[in-house]
Amino acid sequence: MTTLESPKGILLVVSGAAGTGKGTVNAILMKEHDDFVFSVSATTRAPRPGEVDGREYHFMTKEQFEEQIRLGGVIEYTQYCGNYYGTLKSELRKLDEGKNLILEIEVEGAMNIKRLFPDSVAVFILPPDAVTLRNRLVNRGTNTADDIENRMKRALDEFSLVEHYDYAVVNHDGRAKEAADAIYAIVKSEQHKASRAEGAMNRLFFNQE
Ligand code: 5GP
Repeated sequence: MTTLESPKGILLVVSGAAGTGKGTVNAILMKEHDDFVFSVSATTRAPRPGEVDGREYHFMTKEQFEEQIRLGGVIEYTQYCGNYYGTLKSELRKLDEGKNLILEIEVEGAMNIKRLFPDSVAVFILPPDAVTLRNRLVNRGTNTADDIENRMKRALDEFSLVEHYDYAVVNHDGRAKEAADAIYAIVKSEQHKASRAEGAMNRLFFNQE
């Protein structure tokens, strides 16, 4: 460990529109580094085939979600395509275990997290260009022509917000590992930020608590 002190993990927000490959990039990060964990959000959308409750999401009814909001159990939430999505307060405990916590959330949520936790690190994943993005959406095969146009439009709208993020990482076709390595490097540098070691100098060198 070459950092001054790192009792807490980094709160890492990762956003990217459909077709940017953020899920693949985050999966590589977690597979290769056991100090990276995923924040499991709550949602009212139905599980997709292969999704497991408690792994991809905590699947909830609208009533259950609204109850969580009332009880203060949700740090941020948004409505996306007619469903609630939110980050559960309980997920933040993973930070106290020293883990870097990945919040894979959309832009509104990302901006809310930055406001609430200024020392969080927000990374925006981009496709290399518009043609590649469209090809990826078409090649998924699950979207209708209308759907593809909507998603393209939404993605381009979201891209205009990139300047509010701390970092931007391009995910080229077949090179998700490079994007994951870039995010890993970002987090490693952030861990060395002198401002994160508040109090450590006094404790370590001047016998002051
Ligand atoms: P999907 O239905 O494709 O899993 O997710 C739809 C969008 O909701 C994605 O952009 C995803 O990043 C975002 N999302 C997932 N969980 C959360 C959350 O807890 N909060 C916010 N604000 N967005 C989320």
